[in-house]
Amino acid sequence: MSYVAEVFENLKAKHPNEPEFLEAAERILSSLDPIVEKNEDVYRKNALLERFVEPERIITFRVPWTDDKGVNHVNLGYRVQFNSAIGPYKGGLRFHPSVTQSILKFLGMEQILKNSLTGLPIGGGKGGSDFDPHGKSDAEVMRFCQSFMTELFKYIGKDTDVPAGDIGVGGREVGYLYGQYKRLTGLYEGVLTGKGLSFGGSLARPEATGYGLVYITDEMVKAAGKTLEGTTIAVSGSGNVAQYAIQKATELGAKVVTCSDSNGYVYDPNGINFDVLCQIKQVERARISEYAKRVPGSEYHEGERPWGVKCDIALPCATQNEINGEDAKKLLANGCWAVAEGANMPSDSDAIDAYLAAKILYMPAKASNAGGVAVSALEMSQNSERLSWTFEEVDGKLKDIMTNIYKNVAAAAKKYGYEGNFVVGANIAGFEKVADAMLAQGLV
Ligand code: NDP
Repeated sequence: MSYVAEVFENLKAKHPNEPEFLEAAERILSSLDPIVEKNEDVYRKNALLERFVEPERIITFRVPWTDDKGVNHVNLGYRVQFNSAIGPYKGGLRFHPSVTQSILKFLGMEQILKNSLTGLPIGGGKGGSDFDPHGKSDAEVMRFCQSFMTELFKYIGKDTDVPAGDIGVGGREVGYLYGQYKRLTGLYEGVLTGKGLSFGGSLARPEATGYGLVYITDEMVKAAGKTLEGTTIAVSGSGNVAQYAIQKATELGAKVVTCSDSNGYVYDPNGINFDVLCQIKQVERARISEYAKRVPGSEYHEGERPWGVKCDIALPCATQNEINGEDAKKLLANGCWAVAEGANMPSDSDAIDAYLAAKILYMPAKASNAGGVAVSALEMSQNSERLSWTFEEVDGKLKDIMTNIYKNVAAAAKKYGYEGNFVVGANIAGFEKVADAMLAQGLV
């Protein structure tokens, strides 16, 4: 049995109830085969893979809070501190009923490789709660965030672990979390990113993941001798990542014809109107079905995902496993020739196999959605300097980072004999730096 297979078999035996984590670990480990084979003796001697697949620590806690009617609730809170070999733990907090330790471990493992790809000094972490912010009042969300932070603050700090937002955690939640951290510690420090501009946030952070996704897609498409201009794009989701991906893609001359939420998707043959979308999602926090009521010519499809629509490029920006093998087949049959992932692990294994077999351009999440964490790291730099950079400065750095990620991913794929396979390229390019740092730091 190969070293990679051995490590995976042991992991499966230890964590049989963590399907999402095992799926991510299997995908990552199998694509590392080429680099592991070359370095097997050193890696084995240092138990490198055995350490790489286990988080350094996981913190679990209860989060009691009271709703507006005076009823008490208890949710679960987590922080997975996955790997600090290349910097303080960094990664978002997710508030969603589907959150489990397995999901956070999968996201933490992805995060360490993603953070490494940015070239910035940040390790990997992830956290969150099974709390559902949908339908909660501002006061309820605030009480929940305060209770969550009352436990979490013991384990984070500007040089140890710097959380950010993710699904269900946007500017409002980060504000409440930051306020409680400051109240408990008395410290005014960059312990969270995605903060409001008035208290240490970075310009271009809200836009970063969506813009970064479009920047790297543009690089990938150009390298293949094509252009984004004039293409038709299908986007899923209508949250932070989707909104700004839609805005930037439209600005670069593409037509984005879909977006969605967990209830259904909207098709707008004239191109999704960014202002209407932001009004519905950022201001009113309403369902995406509202869009079709307001924009003539658009249609709402309840209970469906947008992958049956004809498009050149698909940008999944909602959640994990939102494109399965059947969806991928539909996309390919409709002429889709590129997929770049805004969400984390939106394509399941069958979908990825279908993309690779069809040899379409496919950029996996850890490379294509790294723009958010990259600008979070730039927010940390600005907080340390006690300076704020202009929007253009941050956006320019983001663009350079995404261009470099594309180049490094493409180069690693080629170096290890998998030219054009960005799954292998992204995993190896991210892993190389983490592995070097772990080896240098000894058995810790
Ligand atoms: P938001 O909470 O802002 O938006 C999430 C969107 O996805 C919403 O439209 C939501 O619809 C939809 N969605 C969530 N769960 C499901 C589901 N089970 N089925 C269908 N649709 C669903 O989150 P973000 O935009 O921040 O995050 C989206 C993805 O991008 C996530 O995978 C996240 O991990 C990833 N990501 C985000 C980064 C960031 O900077 N924000 C950075 C890197 C990755 P509804 O409102 O109905 O729930």
